[in-house]
Order: sequence, then structure tokens, then C-alpha cells
Amino acid sequence: MTKKFDAIIIGTGQSGPFLANRLAKAGMQVAIIERHRFGGTCVNVGCVPTKTLVASAYAAYIACNAKDFGIEISGKPSVDMKAVKARKDAIVKASTEGVENWLKKMENCTVYEGQAAFESSNTVRVNGELLQADQIFINVGARASVPQVPGLDTIPYLTNSTMMEVDFLPEHLLIIGGGYIGLEFGQIYRRFGSKVTILGRGPNILSREDEDISQEVREILEGEGVSILTETEDLTIEKKGKKVEVHMQHQGKSHTVEGSHLLVATGRIPNTRDLGLEKAGIEVNAKGYIQVDDQLQTTRPGVWALGDCNGLGAFTHTSYNEFEIVAANLLEGKKRGVSDRVFAYNLYIDPPLGRAGMSEKEVRESGRKALVARMPMTRVGRAKEKGETRGFMKIFVDAESEQILGAALLGVGCDEVIHLIIDIMYAKAPYTVIRDAMHIHPTVSELIPTLLSELKPLT
Ligand SMILES: Cc1cc2nc3c(=O)[nH]c(=O)nc-3n(C[C@H](O)[C@H](O)[C@H](O)COP(=O)(O)OP(=O)(O)OC[C@H]3O[C@@H](n4cnc5c(N)ncnc54)[C@H](O)[C@@H]3O)c2cc1C
Repeated sequence: MTKKFDAIIIGTGQSGPFLANRLAKAGMQVAIIERHRFGGTCVNVGCVPTKTLVASAYAAYIACNAKDFGIEISGKPSVDMKAVKARKDAIVKASTEGVENWLKKMENCTVYEGQAAFESSNTVRVNGELLQADQIFINVGARASVPQVPGLDTIPYLTNSTMMEVDFLPEHLLIIGGGYIGLEFGQIYRRFGSKVTILGRGPNILSREDEDISQEVREILEGEGVSILTETEDLTIEKKGKKVEVHMQHQGKSHTVEGSHLLVATGRIPNTRDLGLEKAGIEVNAKGYIQVDDQLQTTRPGVWALGDCNGLGAFTHTSYNEFEIVAANLLEGKKRGVSDRVFAYNLYIDPPLGRAGMSEKEVRESGRKALVARMPMTRVGRAKEKGETRGFMKIFVDAESEQILGAALLGVGCDEVIHLIIDIMYAKAPYTVIRDAMHIHPTVSELIPTLLSELKPLT
């Protein structure tokens, strides 16, 4: 027998549970299906656990550098990896159980635990049961993509998911991938005491960022002892007793690095292959991402795809924003779209990089007249007081409209400061609003008006 609902949600990532709550509160009968752990990537193997590890790594870094602050610690500080993992596990457990309990107690909401797949455009099968609804929302997320590297299948390599089980200190962690996941893990484990080598494919790590940002991040990590090799290709993996060897072409020459463990951090692929999308007439692109319009509706009316599985964003905030867009359009009669949002993300190395809007490269390519200002963090009083003066801030403004086009803020506190820029971009107000505002002393934010008063034409 087919069970009828008003809405079915597949996946409990960063949009599904919030949407279930809104729809159920509006009086709809909702079914939500999860095949693994409630809360998805962010809560279990993504943002939450990695940022708890970043915090532990920061504590280790400060302990090791306590002398710089006039603090004597007798003996060398040591890292208890089992305790680090236990702290991380406790925070993750509270988060995932929080999502699970919330959903299971939610009025008008039925939770199914199992693998969901479409049988038709309005019918989904889970655990042998058929569920039907006129509105279906897909929030199935993505997982680590594993590249075709000869020999990789001969070793027990790590991904961002299996890294969560590590409760020991790898002697030498090799990381394939110079994107944000690889860099965050690289600094975390270096600060815990591992030797770390990052292997990037292109000429620069963080290939989407401007070269000056990428170079500064590289210098920050190398300054802490992380080895970074860029322009690596033709990788092959060989098991050597308890060690792993990666052979490669590095800047045109044969090169080998040997480590104790290997982390693969080469990107993500959407969880769309086993969803029966073809039975529902839902199209995916060449990379498997579900095709959606600006309101997140798929090629099948009545079915929406939110979060990483649609390829429009790859972050918790983009997934959550997509819940807000869909809820506003369906329940409040609005016409919100993905194109309304300002691109923004943070890289949680220390110091963090806050990014909003266009990069310098994108501004130049757009051909518009623009203004630019740059400031090293050594000019920021609060950074000096904290002993964290690495990095710099840069910002771009449209010379005609005076609106901010984008910013890259790499420095202490910049994961928060970037929101000044994001909000003024949403307000579509001229940069002069921030330039003329009185900010609080002593903060990193108080230097943003100064930065904006130093704008010069981008040549
Ligand atoms: C190491 C790492 C660090 C990260 N750090 C950050 C960060 O600092 N900030 C940030 O914004 N983002 C970060 N991200 C990205 C962020 O985790 C994701 O963008 C976010 O979780 C959004 O995912 P989602 O809502 O698309 O779905 P997900 O969170 O991936 O959840 C999808 C859910 O659907 C379930 N599912 C899949 N298929 C089915 C099926 N057929 N049937 C039933 N259930 C199914 C899965 O089990 C999963 O629980 C990080 C990611 C990683 C890997």
C-alpha cells in the first residue's frame, strides 16, 4: 500500500530538517528520510568536527608559543589525540542527536531511516514501502570523490569521513589536494605535531582564489612547517611496509614523497547516482549534479533539489539559504532565487580567510572600472595585540555605482569581519556607508573604514 504525504524530503542535511519544520508547522503531513546519520555532512564529518579540531589545534599552537606572550609552561606541551577526538565526538554527538530528536518529536512529521529512491516523479521507495507526495525535496548532499590514482586501492587511505575516526598522531600525513579541506586538515595536524605534506595539482593552492591570496596562505602554512608541492601530476601510490610512497611528476621532474598516512581531499561528488532520478524524469549534468532553476525546482515540476546535490553551492550556508528560498516561495508567496545571493565563504585555517563577492581576477575580467584598497594585517592594532599579524585585506569597489564588488580578508578575526562586507553588498548600499561609520576600538573591523578611505583605481 502506498502512504500519502503532502511532502517528502530525502536527506537530513542542512536544508531538509529546517524545511520539514516549516512545512509541518504550516499543517502539511511531511515524511523525511535519512539513510545514515542525522544532520548529514556538516554535523558528522564536515564543518562541526573540523572546526572543533581547528580549535584544539589552535590551543596546541598557543601552548607551544606561550613564551611569546610571556607565559612559561614547564616541559613541552603534548597533544592527547584520544582526548582531542573525544571532545570532537561529544560535540558531534550532541549535534546529530539534536537533529534526530527534533525530527522524531516534530508534529506532522514522520521519520524514515533507510535508503530512498524514486519510483516515479511523485513516489519514493524506502525500506520496501512506497511513499507518495505532490511535493518532493531532495537534500542528499555529496561525498568525498576519490580520484583514479594507480595503487590507491592498495592502501587504507583516509577521506574527510574516515579522518573523523583518527585518535592517534600520524607521523607524516600526506594530503592529496590543495583545496580548503586539504589545507584545513594540513594545518590542524601540523599543529598537533605531525609532519605534513600537501600535494596540489595546479600552480597554486586554492586555485579559485587570487594568486596573492594563495601565495600568502602558502607562506602562512609553510611558516608553520607544512610542506607544499604544487604542479604535481601522474601520481602513483606504492605501499612500502607500514609506509606509503607517492611517486609523481613535480614541476616536470620525477619525485617521491614517503609518509605514514594518506588523506585524499580532491573534491566532492553528489549522492545522486542511486536515487532513481531517471524514473522521475529529473535531469543531472555531466558531473551528476541535479539541474535546477533559480527557484531550485528540478526539470520535473513538483520536485526541488537543495544543497550540495545541485552544484550551486557547496557549503552549509548555501544549503540553509536554499531552504529559506524554497520556504519563502512556497509558503509566503515570494519569488526568491539563488541569483539574489552574494557569494561568500570562509577558509578556516588560522588566520582565517573571509571571502565575499568577486575576486580580483573576476573584477579584472569583467572589464569594469574599479577601485581597490589593500592593507597588511601588520597595520591592525588588534592583530598586533593578539600577536597575529599574518595576512592582508583587500577590497574592490565599482567606480561608478560605488558598491562593493568583493573582498578577501585574510587575517585574525576575518571569518567574522567579512560579514560587514556581505551585509552592505546585500543592502546594495555604497561603500561610503561603512567608510563613514564609527566602528569600535580596538577591533579588526575598525580598520575597514580606513581601508575603504584608501581606495585607488585598479590598474
Ligand atoms: C571536511 C569538510 C569540512 C567542511 N567545512 C565547512 C565549513 O566550515 N563551512 C561550510 O559552510 N561548509 C563546510 N563543508 C561543507 C558542508 O558540510 C556541506 O556543504 C553541508 O553539509 C551541506 O550539505 P547538504 O545539505 O547538501 O547535505 P549533507 O549535509 O551532505 O546531507 C545529506 C544527507 O542525505 C542523506 N542521503 C543521501 N542520499 C540519501 C538517500 N538516497 N536516501 C536517504 N538519505 C540520503 C545522507 O546520508 C546525508 O545525511 C565542509 C565539508 C567537509 C567535507
